[in-house]
Amino acid sequence: MVPCYNEEAGLREFYRQTSQVIAQITNYDFQFLFVNDGSRDHTLAIMRELREQDPRVSYVNLSRNFGKEIAMIAGMDYLPGDAAIIMDADLQDPPELIPEMISWWEKGYQDVSAKRRSRAGETFFKKWSSHAFYTILQKMSEVPMQRDVGDFRLLDRQCLNALRMLRECQRYTKGLFSWIGFEKKEILFDRQPRAAGKTKWNYWKLMNLAIEGITSFTIAPLRAASFVGCILSFSALAYMLYIVIRTLLYGGDVPGYPSLITFILFIGGVQLLFLGIIGEYLGRVFNESKFRPLYLVQDVNGKREIVQTMGKRDEIDQ
Ligand code: UDP
Ligand code: MG
Repeated sequence: MVPCYNEEAGLREFYRQTSQVIAQITNYDFQFLFVNDGSRDHTLAIMRELREQDPRVSYVNLSRNFGKEIAMIAGMDYLPGDAAIIMDADLQDPPELIPEMISWWEKGYQDVSAKRRSRAGETFFKKWSSHAFYTILQKMSEVPMQRDVGDFRLLDRQCLNALRMLRECQRYTKGLFSWIGFEKKEILFDRQPRAAGKTKWNYWKLMNLAIEGITSFTIAPLRAASFVGCILSFSALAYMLYIVIRTLLYGGDVPGYPSLITFILFIGGVQLLFLGIIGEYLGRVFNESKFRPLYLVQDVNGKREIVQTMGKRDEIDQ
C-alpha cells in the first residue's frame, strides 16, 4: 500500500522496481494499492495508466489532500489480503527488503518494521532534534516507542484490523503501531535519499508532528503543569509569610521593584505556557468530538463512491 501526494516524478519507477522484486516471490499473490492523497499533478493519471497495464494495481482516490497519516488509514480500510506492506512512493523504502519482511512474517511475526541504520542526507540538526524528540516521548508515555522506525513495514491482518479500530482523526501513526502491540520484529536497512520529487516535510510540519505525537500519547505535560503550579504556589506562600513577618518586625520598605517585576513576568510566562498546553489538549478534544469521517473518497479504481461510509469500508469488516 502506497500513499501518494504529487509523486508523478517517481511513481512509474517505483512500480517498475517493486514489481521486479515481487516477480521473484512466486508463492504469494501480490496487489498494489495506491492512495492518491489529492495530488495536484499527474499522479492519478499514472495510477490509471498502471491499472490499465496491470490488473493487480488498484487505487483509492481521496477527495482532497488529507495528509499521509489519513491517507494510510484510508489505504488500510481498502486493503484486501492476509498481510500488507506500507511503502513510500519515492523509493526511500527499498523494495529489496520485501522478501526479508515476508520471511519474518512466515516465522510468525505480525509487524515487521524497517529500522534505519543510517540517516544519509540529513542535517545534524535534524538528527539531533529527532533523537531528542524520541527520548522525550519515550520518557513520557507508557507504551514503548520504536526509534528510527518509519511507516515502512509489513502488517498482518490482525494488526491491520487493530489499526482500523483506532479512528482518531489527529493521527500519530508511528505511535499507533507501537500502541497495538502484537509480535514485532525490526530489521535494519539504509534509508536512501529521495529518488525524485521533493519532500513534503519542513521543520514547521515536523514540529507539529512532534506536538501531535506527544499530545496524542500522554497527558504528562498536563501533569507537569499541575506540579509546577503546586511548587510555585507553595514558594509564593512561603515568600509571602516571610515578607509579612519581615514587614511586621522591621517596617515596610519601598524598593524591590526589580524583584517584583521579575516575579510577575515569570509567573505570567509560566501561566501562558500552561494555558497553551491545556489549549493543545482542548483542541484535540474539539477535533475528535466532531466525529467526522476521517477522509472522503472520490473514486475507487475509477468507480465513484456515491455513498460515503464513516470512513470504513464495511465489506471487509467481517
Ligand atoms: N504523502 C501523502 N500525503 C501527504 C504527504 C505525503 O500521501 O500529504 C506521501 C508521499 O507521497 C510519500 C510518503 O507520504 O509516498 C512520504 O512522503 P515524503 O517522502 O514527502 O516524506 P519523507 O520521506 O521525507 O518522510
Ligand atoms: Mg520520502
